[in-house]
Amino acid sequence: MGSPPKRSHYDAVVIGCGMAGLAAAIRLAMFDRSVLVVESHNAPGGLNSFYALQGRKFDVGLHAVTNFVPPGARGTPLGKLLRQLRIPREALDLSEQVSSRIAFPGVDLRFRNGFRELAESVAAAFPEEIDGFTRLRDHVAAYDPFDAGLEVRSTRSVLQAFIRSPLLTDMILCPLLYYGSARENDIDFDQFVILWRSIFEEGFGRPLEGVRVVIRALLDRARATGVERRMKCGVRHLHSDGSRITAVELEDGYTVTADRIISTAGAPETALLCGETAAPEAGPRLSFVETITVFDGQPKNFGAEETIIFFNAAPTFAYERPADPVDLRSGVICFPNNYEYGAERQLEEGFFRVTALANYAYWKGLDEATYRSEKEAWYRRMQSAATAFLPGFDWAGVEAKRRFVDMFTPRTVEKFTRHLDGAVYGSPVKTRDGTTAFGNLFLAGTDQGFLGITGAMLSGISMANRHVLAGG
Ligand SMILES: Cc1cc2nc3c(=O)[nH]c(=O)nc-3n(C[C@H](O)[C@H](O)[C@H](O)COP(=O)(O)OP(=O)(O)OC[C@H]3O[C@@H](n4cnc5c(N)ncnc54)[C@H](O)[C@@H]3O)c2cc1C
Repeated sequence: MGSPPKRSHYDAVVIGCGMAGLAAAIRLAMFDRSVLVVESHNAPGGLNSFYALQGRKFDVGLHAVTNFVPPGARGTPLGKLLRQLRIPREALDLSEQVSSRIAFPGVDLRFRNGFRELAESVAAAFPEEIDGFTRLRDHVAAYDPFDAGLEVRSTRSVLQAFIRSPLLTDMILCPLLYYGSARENDIDFDQFVILWRSIFEEGFGRPLEGVRVVIRALLDRARATGVERRMKCGVRHLHSDGSRITAVELEDGYTVTADRIISTAGAPETALLCGETAAPEAGPRLSFVETITVFDGQPKNFGAEETIIFFNAAPTFAYERPADPVDLRSGVICFPNNYEYGAERQLEEGFFRVTALANYAYWKGLDEATYRSEKEAWYRRMQSAATAFLPGFDWAGVEAKRRFVDMFTPRTVEKFTRHLDGAVYGSPVKTRDGTTAFGNLFLAGTDQGFLGITGAMLSGISMANRHVLAGG
């Protein structure tokens, strides 16, 4: 047993030191609540953490921080969250993307930050749909996704009133599902609205040094506000009297009590910590593989100038748990070098990331030797599927200059975040108000329904505001 927690009782215990957990804890500590954050892993950041291998630093997940707006833009989610956490905008060191593309067989849609380029691209490729597309944009602008009284609606059914082309529907959905849908082949319409705004209307940014810049800003703030953090110290069990959580038992042998508990571990994962059986899911939980290729040089010198490419090779876009180990029909390519970092600021090496849907059970079931050989085989297949959508890209040249390769699978996600089935976007059904069967236990982050780096932080803040600060 290491040193004991500083207190035996806290105003709040926060489970998980990812984006949602850190944001919730900072918000509470800013208002003088005593807060203990407990995290099972040794590194902060959760699904969006970082690690070092052979002297290189890697982001686990970062393609882009969504909701990028120029400094000074008012009334935006990014501005709101920075204000609520009192983090200066400069601390995130965000640079905007160069340009991105949605690539389907024979048709490309391009977009940059701000909406203009996407609208022009739709008008050029689907002239007969542009009126409906414009009406859809107006509908999205007028829609309040945070109205708790709204029923959950299927986006595909809503889009039918605006877009006739199944191809355009799939092309609009592809980036939004990849960057935040926990449901197969669809997304709840309120989530769609949030993602449309954060990706198409606002856009992508990235700190030159990656996600560790965001995490550092959060940790600095957590330290300054007096948040107590306990790493490599998971919650083993949440004890209850049937209606309230009475004690938080930690894996390092200590037990603390708290007025309120905010869990970012996920809905079924939290239910299991309470000794309950997790409720049956409305569909499969989705997970991904990602490959990272590091090479000597800059992508643009090998013919790749875009930031993110969402590709689909099939006649229709299938966003579902694949029967195969990896679904090679679609995916996301990211070149983290291709942001507007400014003169003389650039990553020293080239990075080429490819993400695709994957089958958790397959990867989980492999013995170590087969796991390694399967990773190698699927790495090659994924590069081949992705580079088919990069016509000017000199992949052979990159391969000749390749210095390092890494790949994570659903098994890696589960190991480092404890998300069941390696689920990246959590449960298909979200708990919008964050409440649970226990009066003083609340969910924040992925399973409350806000996803991505910005969304998770906003979720942490709003659950802290609503369930702890507003509650006295
Ligand atoms: C490969 C990949 C790429 C991504 N790319 C992007 C991107 O480019 N842009 C973007 O905005 N988003 C991206 N995301 C999504 C984004 O990372 C997540 O939506 C967000 O980080 C979720 O944050 P969270 O705090 O809700 O959950 P998590 O990050 O999952 O945090 C939960 C934490 O709880 C901890 N925990 C679990 N069980 C326990 C326990 N019993 N006791 C203590 N601690 C526990 C976990 O270890 C974890 O640290 C990506 C995700 C992945 C996996």
